[in-house]
Amino acid sequence: MSGTDFIVLGGGLVGSAIAYGLARRGKRVAVLDEGDVAHRASRGNFGLVWVQGKGLGMPEYADWARLSADVWPEFAAGMKERTGIDLNYRKPGGFQLCLSDEEMAERIAFIDRLREQQGAKGYDCEVVDRRRLDNLLPELGPEVVGGTYCPHDGHVNPLRLLKALHKALGGAYRPNSKVTAIRPAGGGFRIEAGQTVHEAPRIVLAAGLGNLPLADMLGFKLPVRPQRGQILVTERLPAFLDYPLSGVRQTEEGTVMLGSSREEVGYDNGTSPEVMRSIAANAVRVFPRLKHARIVRAWGALRILAPDEFPIYQTVPGHDGAHVATCHSGVSLAGAHALRFAGYLAEGRLPAHFTAFHSRRFDVPKAA
Ligand SMILES: Cc1cc2nc3c(=O)[nH]c(=O)nc-3n(C[C@H](O)[C@H](O)[C@H](O)COP(=O)(O)OP(=O)(O)OC[C@H]3O[C@@H](n4cnc5c(N)ncnc54)[C@H](O)[C@@H]3O)c2cc1C
Repeated sequence: MSGTDFIVLGGGLVGSAIAYGLARRGKRVAVLDEGDVAHRASRGNFGLVWVQGKGLGMPEYADWARLSADVWPEFAAGMKERTGIDLNYRKPGGFQLCLSDEEMAERIAFIDRLREQQGAKGYDCEVVDRRRLDNLLPELGPEVVGGTYCPHDGHVNPLRLLKALHKALGGAYRPNSKVTAIRPAGGGFRIEAGQTVHEAPRIVLAAGLGNLPLADMLGFKLPVRPQRGQILVTERLPAFLDYPLSGVRQTEEGTVMLGSSREEVGYDNGTSPEVMRSIAANAVRVFPRLKHARIVRAWGALRILAPDEFPIYQTVPGHDGAHVATCHSGVSLAGAHALRFAGYLAEGRLPAHFTAFHSRRFDVPKAA
């Protein structure tokens, strides 16, 4: 692999989108990916390309999520052109619904705080009352009092997205390549994947939860943890839902995805009847018609979360050529990772405002 500019460690949505972006810019890239045996949020997520509600406490992230949604149409079109794979990306805007007046008041206050934080830029998310919702969403349950709508939200088939990225990468994508050692060597890095050794001046740690042991190999404790989400999928139903909701979306094929929980259960990616029941019950409160739908699949998958749930982008302390990229919303951010972040890496420098994403933000001494 001599002559490689970047080795990307991990070929989930984050690593693959970054590698695709680097390759688009003419960089010689290799992606070493352990594959499905590792924890892989990229194959277990909900498929939203989402902006609303993101970034309270970090304006840079609110901007980044919005930028990604802005470039997603171009990104999806590029993927189709290169690979022939239609990602089923749709951007009709999305809703988050509220099931009580109290919930509605909390939601409005939350969006107001985001709007205040974003200042003159504003925050494109509007409050929608029940009467307007009835014109846009069919047969809502009686408990729905209103909600919020963001025109930048959308959804996609995340499995097609991953497949398309791997196809676009061609031979640069190396499956069954679990990285077992990283050693600084000659101003760059020697990467061992089983019996195979690879070398490059720059590497990108983008292996989801697998980044924890990888960063450790360079003496860096990456502050991320797993958080489980369970998702249910119904049988195919006639099309009834034109918009994605934060916990309900109808796919192009007609199935309806319901989700997803937030559970602190370590590395257990199983399912549990009580959580599944609660997800289904909530969905039925929103759309009573789902009461009759059969659930055909359910799974658990692990999110990759920093303590504040915002992304971490930085170099590994003491290793300028080793970059780290990890985030909670790898579907939503795929556009920005491919069309912007990869460009920053290719040029050799992150923009000044990216210091906000450095993990040193967690080094604040605790009050006595
Ligand atoms: C229930 C749930 C719902 C979600 N819904 C959404 C959503 O609607 N919208 C959204 O934007 N995001 C969503 N997400 C988050 C999204 O799925 C993740 O942010 C994204 O998949 C992270 O991608 P990743 O590449 O960082 O990690 P992963 O998908 O975990 O991929 C990591 C890759 O690294 C490889 N790897 C690990 N260790 C090694 C090693 N040592 N050597 C080589 N390769 C290695 C693995 O094989 C894997 O392919 C959801 C997540 C969950 C769990």
